[in-house]
Formats: sequence, structure tokens, C-alpha cells
Amino acid sequence: MTNLICITCPKGCHLCVDEQNDYAVTGNSCPRGAEYGRNELLHPVRVITSTVRITGAMIPRLPVKTDRPLPKEKMFDCMQLINQITVQAPVQVGQILAANILGTDVNLVAAKTLPVYP
Ligand code: SF4
Repeated sequence: MTNLICITCPKGCHLCVDEQNDYAVTGNSCPRGAEYGRNELLHPVRVITSTVRITGAMIPRLPVKTDRPLPKEKMFDCMQLINQITVQAPVQVGQILAANILGTDVNLVAAKTLPVYP
């Protein structure tokens, strides 16, 4: 048995995952918790939120996120990639800044619209 706290929503249900019983999950208040508990033990994933450098905008950093969760073991390499990115204003929210990160089929997208300044 493995105890986890579900991070899918702010309720934070305390989950119990039974590895000996096909990763059955108890303690969840909704189906998303069961999916999270099972995935967390079998193939954990995370959405990454961060910032990248931007030139020509009113602020020097652009908030970014991955458009889907990517495998947890790729997070460090993904952050190294993000730290090397510089974009030029203007940028639209949702714009793809890096496609198919590390061959995962996950894209890095802008989380904010930043026009050219001034
Ligand atoms: S199990 Fe459902 S209600 Fe509970 S924290 Fe997870 S997503 Fe939220």
C-alpha cells in the first residue's frame, strides 16, 4: 500500500494505492483521484510551469507552461531546455514556443500575451 495526497484539485484527498490489487485506489472523492493515484505509481507525470526570457516586451520574463503533463523523469531536462529559451515580443497566450519537447509530444506554450513595448 502506498499513501498519497491527490494534487489534482485543492481538496487534497488522502489516497491509498494497493499495488497488490491492480493498483486499486481508495480515499478518492472522484474518479480523477483514482486515475491520479494509479498513474502516480505506474508513470508519474507533471505539467511544468516556469518563465523564459523575452526581449522587446514590458517585462523581462514570459510565463510559460507545458500544454500537457510530461513524464516526471524528464522534468530536469525540460527545465534545462526552458532556461535556454529567449523569445521576442509580441507573443500570444497559447503560442507554441518549443514543440515536441524531448520527443514527448508535449509543447511549451506561452501562458500570457505580451505585446511589443513601447
Ligand atoms: S480525488 Fe477528486 S476531489 Fe479528491 S483531491 Fe483528487 S481530484 Fe480532488
